[in-house]
Amino acid sequence: MPYLSVKEVTKKYQEFNMSLSFEAEKGELVCILGPSGGGKSTLLSLLSGIENPDSGDITIDGNSITRLPIHQRGIGMVFQDFSLFPSMNTGENIEYGMRIKSRKERKEKAKELLSLVGLPGYEKRKVTELSGGEAQRVALARAIASEPQILLLDEPLSALDAPLRKKLRGAIRAIHDATGTTMLYVTHDREEAFAIADRILIMKDGRNVAYGTPEDLYRNPPDLFTAFFTGEGTALPCTLLYGEGKEGYIFFRPESVTVSEEMLDGGLYPNHLVMNNVEVRSAEYTGPGYVLGLWFKGLPIIAFSPLKPKKRYISLMIMVDALIKVQS
Ligand code: ADP
Ligand code: MG
Repeated sequence: MPYLSVKEVTKKYQEFNMSLSFEAEKGELVCILGPSGGGKSTLLSLLSGIENPDSGDITIDGNSITRLPIHQRGIGMVFQDFSLFPSMNTGENIEYGMRIKSRKERKEKAKELLSLVGLPGYEKRKVTELSGGEAQRVALARAIASEPQILLLDEPLSALDAPLRKKLRGAIRAIHDATGTTMLYVTHDREEAFAIADRILIMKDGRNVAYGTPEDLYRNPPDLFTAFFTGEGTALPCTLLYGEGKEGYIFFRPESVTVSEEMLDGGLYPNHLVMNNVEVRSAEYTGPGYVLGLWFKGLPIIAFSPLKPKKRYISLMIMVDALIKVQS
């Protein structure tokens, strides 16, 4: 039995219609990834009880929480804007919501959690004097302190600058691993999701578009939206490769392409798709190599090459195993 189960949950706001099912295992870190307006925050509101679904059921450990009031759900929340209590110091913020009764034990626990989030000795600090990164670490410690069954994080790093975001996402993954807390982490940043998720739920227009490990989604995207949302690549209509009447697209990643400056004889490479007379239109240096903007029979192709092509027309070869059939 899955730990968290979201079963055919629907919610309607004017034009927006959510209809969603997915499951998560105990101790998993699931990232909810998708474009703005896709329903990620709405999903968290339905889980926490801030909003009620129109229909469907949400269970944790087999028990329905769909009609439970917010405080009985055992759900913790971390938001983009930290939401710390300005009138309490750092230690008091963390003690708030702890289930432990004894004052002394609460203080000890707060101390322990501050070390866990990388802020040892911060108990007496005023929260108004914390930096953005520190405040988010405290918010995380406070959320963990209540020992939630599930911790929801809604774009927790969006308000921070890029280097700090990278550092803190690592810290969040480490805290997840140390505590075993089941986490649902909303982000619109693919790199962030790839870096920390056990599984990623791709959400668009209130739907579960794809769900899998980062590796799964990158190597085997089920549709064009997921293919391009999880990275760069080329989609060629099947009609181009297999003739009229063939539906869908063949998709491949830039690094699956081998570039040659010589004409290639397809007959010599039976397990490959071979293309000759491919025009080089751009070559952008990335450090490890070049991202090539190519043109073939009126269609754009993106390829990665360690070397910069010298010729204007080149040949490409892609292993058949690296070609992914996707729906539009
Ligand atoms: P995301 O977090 O993925 O950006 P949201 O869940 O915030 O998406 O929003 C999904 C859609 O639902 C949007 O079109 C938004 O305008 C709408 N929406 C969200 N909350 C409400 C609400 N309380 N009342 C009316 N419409 C809402
Ligand atoms: Mg949102």
